[in-house]
Amino acid sequence: MLIIGITGTLGAGKGTVVDYLRTQRAFAYYSVRQFLTEEVQRRGMEPNRDSFVTVANDLRAHHSPSYIVDELYARAAQNGTNAIIESIRATGEVESLRKKGSFVLLAVDADSRTRYERIKLRGSETDHIDYDTFVANEKREFDNPDPNKQNLQACMRMADITLLNNGSLEQLHAEIDRFLGELKDDAPAHHRPSWDEYFMDLCHSVALRATCNRGRSGCVIVKDRQILVSGYVGSPSHLPHCDEVGHLFRKTLHEDGTISTHCVRTVHAEQNAICQAARRGVSLEGGTLYCTMTPCRTCAMLIINCGIKRVVADYKYHAGAESEEMFRQAGVSLDYIHNEVLEYQNK
Ligand SMILES: [Zn+2]
Ligand SMILES: [Zn+2]
Repeated sequence: MLIIGITGTLGAGKGTVVDYLRTQRAFAYYSVRQFLTEEVQRRGMEPNRDSFVTVANDLRAHHSPSYIVDELYARAAQNGTNAIIESIRATGEVESLRKKGSFVLLAVDADSRTRYERIKLRGSETDHIDYDTFVANEKREFDNPDPNKQNLQACMRMADITLLNNGSLEQLHAEIDRFLGELKDDAPAHHRPSWDEYFMDLCHSVALRATCNRGRSGCVIVKDRQILVSGYVGSPSHLPHCDEVGHLFRKTLHEDGTISTHCVRTVHAEQNAICQAARRGVSLEGGTLYCTMTPCRTCAMLIINCGIKRVVADYKYHAGAESEEMFRQAGVSLDYIHNEVLEYQNK
C-alpha cells in the first residue's frame, strides 16, 4: 500500500495528476473537499464556501489541526490499496501523515505564467484576476509561518517528489510513470533486524556520546532481550573530557620490551555500563554485553565477575587475545559481528 498526499500551486495540474492515478493506475481517491461536503450535509448546512471554512475550522479546533487528512489516511489504510489524498496544504498535516508510514508527498508545480493562463482558461469566478494580483495573492499566502495554516510553498519544500508540469499531458503522464517506477525500486522489503543487530545498533548510538577520539566505543548490557544499562567511553563524572582538554597518555612497558601508549583519562564503555548497574541496583547476572570491540583485560575481568554470560563485540581488538582466553576459561561466550581487527593509532 502506498498513500500519496498531493500538494501544489494553483493551476499546476493536481487534478490532472489525480485523474491519471485514479483511472490509469487504480489509485483510490480521498479528498478533503469530499470529506467536508459530507460533513456540511450531515450538519444540515448550505453547501457553500462559508460552510466549508466553518466546518473545517470547527473540526480542526475540536480534534487536531491535521484531523481531516488523518481521517482520510485512516480510511485509505483500512481500504489497503494504493491511494491519493487531495490535497495537503499545511506543514503540520505533512508531519502527521509522515509518522503513519507508507506515505509519500507529491508536489505539482509549474511556471507562474503557465498556471495563470490555465486558471484563466478554467474561468471559474474566483479566477478572474489579472496576472499581478495572482502573483501577489500567492506571495502573501506563501509567507504564513503557522504550521497549521495553509502554506503551499512550505508543503512543497517538504515533498518527496516534485512534478514540474510545464509541458504536454503526455510528458506529465510519463513523469508520473517514472516516479511510480522509482518508488517501486526504492522500496525493498523491510529488513527486521535480528536481536544481535538490534542491540549492536543501539550500542553504536550510545557510542556517539563518547568523549575520547582514541576509540568512541559504546556498550549495552541486556538480559532476556531487554536493555538493562548502557555506557560509553568518557571521563569520570565532573572531570574534563579528552575532547575538551586532550588525552592523558601513559606508556606501558610490556614483557617483550615493547612500549605502548594509552589514554588513561577515560572510564571504558563497559565499565561505565557496569557502574550504571551498580548505581541503579541492577543485577547483570546471566546478561549479554554488547560492545564495540573485544573488551580490554580490565573490562574482561569485571565482565566475568558481574556474572555476564555472553559478550558480543562488533570488531576484534588487536590486543584482545588475553581477554579472549579469560572469557574461554571463565565460560563466557564471545561472538564477533565482524572479523576485521581494529587497531588504535599511536599505540
Ligand atoms: Zn582520551
Ligand atoms: Zn576496557
